[in-house]
Amino acid sequence: MAKKLKNYIGGEWVESSATTYTPVVNPATCEVLGECPESTRADVDMAVRAAQEAFEEWRQTPVLNRAQYMYRLKNAIEDRFEDLTEMVVKENGKTRDEARGEVRRGIESIDFATSVPVLMRSDGVEDIAAGIDEDTVRQPAGVFAAITPFNFPAMVPLWFLPTAITCGNTFILKPSPQTPISMDVLFEVLEEIDLPEGVVNLIQGGKEAATAIMEHPGIRGVSFVGSTPVARIVYETCTRHGKRVQAQGGAKNYIAVLPDADMNASVKNIMGAAYGCAGQRCLAAAVVVGVGDAYEKVRDEIVKQAGALRVGYGLSETTQMGTVVSAAARERIHNMITQGEQQGAKVLLDGRSMQVDGYENGNFVGPTVVENVGPDNILAKEEVFGPVLSLMKVDSYDEAVDVINSSRYGNAASIFTNNGKYARDFKYRVNAGNIGVNIGVAAPSASFPFGGQKESFFGDLHGQGIDSIDFYTEKKIVIERWI
Ligand code: NAD
Repeated sequence: MAKKLKNYIGGEWVESSATTYTPVVNPATCEVLGECPESTRADVDMAVRAAQEAFEEWRQTPVLNRAQYMYRLKNAIEDRFEDLTEMVVKENGKTRDEARGEVRRGIESIDFATSVPVLMRSDGVEDIAAGIDEDTVRQPAGVFAAITPFNFPAMVPLWFLPTAITCGNTFILKPSPQTPISMDVLFEVLEEIDLPEGVVNLIQGGKEAATAIMEHPGIRGVSFVGSTPVARIVYETCTRHGKRVQAQGGAKNYIAVLPDADMNASVKNIMGAAYGCAGQRCLAAAVVVGVGDAYEKVRDEIVKQAGALRVGYGLSETTQMGTVVSAAARERIHNMITQGEQQGAKVLLDGRSMQVDGYENGNFVGPTVVENVGPDNILAKEEVFGPVLSLMKVDSYDEAVDVINSSRYGNAASIFTNNGKYARDFKYRVNAGNIGVNIGVAAPSASFPFGGQKESFFGDLHGQGIDSIDFYTEKKIVIERWI
């Protein structure tokens, strides 16, 4: 029988007070994996109280001791590595290797959190005035929460939880109701490392629970990752309720290919960037802009290689691309391709009729390549979040930069070239928060902040890296005279 998911509050698995449960469905097999509660305001309130009660003692736990929990967490996740990756595949639809990569990336964030004892150090000046010393101390700020998306069900929560708690805060996580079971597994792992009760709490649910988090006066700050319309709501609601907030939104990532680029290496990179995780990545390549005669070369090779990708169930080791997350996602992607066609685009490789033997009801969309995509086409402007790569031809490098900068999103952009002058100019002028030079997916490692500009990010301090230490601590200035 499908597991009825519980919340984890104050060190115990607690049944939600929800009246509604949503089935969690394996998008390849259509098997129901679990039932996710629509947790309520009362559930969130219970979690906030548990986190508040745990805070005083946890903040007084020396930071070196707090960091020790991160070593334990890392080892405990390594022990459950394959369980966790299997659940990511089952509920999300990506391939086993992609799930392994995601959990590895999550573990890197735990590694980063072991540096918190160093990163929480701060500055001081003796004799700032005669006999007066002035110092900064960083203190944990209270209860933090994260609201996370379906596409990286294990990694994205780990961008936040390890650093937040090692800084001395207590924490509430609300994962996506589409992929909640990976976090059920992770909280089993967290239970094994014996954190004090209430330091970490899990609330399963959707909009109602998210709204209760954003509005709860007991929560100091919220980290959000998801689509742009929701990121905007989260940013506005949290600021209205006096909270610190970082809201990472959606994307439309462009890749410029110049005629002097190494075409083989470029296409290999673009393939991974466009079709990895079936295009359901905020750093996915969405539009390739070919400059001059680079265009035809790149287009022909992309169509050839995309057509050869093996699509299938993520748990099969031979699968190169899995499903999209749900029937609704599949339908949305189909509709966007059709609309793109109606607006003048030409479909060179069509994934809409994709069928996989043995998984006839699976939500597969095959690799799709579309050309003649004008700047006003829906496929150039809106996030598809599926395995659809749009192609555009321009005459010059400057035209490519203008097209990229006209996007309302600014998550990532890449250039493929062997010319340092263009590479430098691209870094300098392109308005995106993560820039790749001969790199298709410019994914910042855990010790760097995750960039994001324009409608891809709302807030000031980004997730990860040193920004996360600023986000999860309060700076206090102490001025002293003893003589
Ligand atoms: P989503 O916005 O639908 O949901 C994200 C989270 O918000 C979920 O936990 C959901 O329950 C909650 N939510 C939904 N509606 C809400 C509302 N009205 N108020 C408050 N909370 C609400 O996103 P998704 O479909 O799960 O994830 C895909 C999106 O996430 C894509 O747009 C992708 O680009 C983006 N994403 C961005 C990054 C980044 O770092 N910028 C990383 C991963 C994914």
